[in-house]
Amino acid sequence: MFVLKGIDQLTKAIAKAKKLRPRVKFDCFGRYRVSGSKGYYTVVCRKDERGYKTVACTCKGAEKGLACYHAAAALSLHVGLARQRQTA
Ligand SMILES: [Zn+2]
Repeated sequence: MFVLKGIDQLTKAIAKAKKLRPRVKFDCFGRYRVSGSKGYYTVVCRKDERGYKTVACTCKGAEKGLACYHAAAALSLHVGLARQRQTA
């Protein structure tokens, strides 16, 4: 899991996601399944008690606190949905 502080930390992950084009499946708001090298990983985006945006992924990289490309792929969908919610 990692705390999302800005888009900068995702630059590499976004580039990788664009290259690999993982499939993103919508589970529910804030919860997505992203295809990876070993099947689907679950990515959970949420705000914690202190208001920090946290992103958790079930892959090995995210376990070490890295911003993985699964998270980047899920976030691009999540951000769009969050925006829709705010304007709805
Ligand atoms: Zn991941």
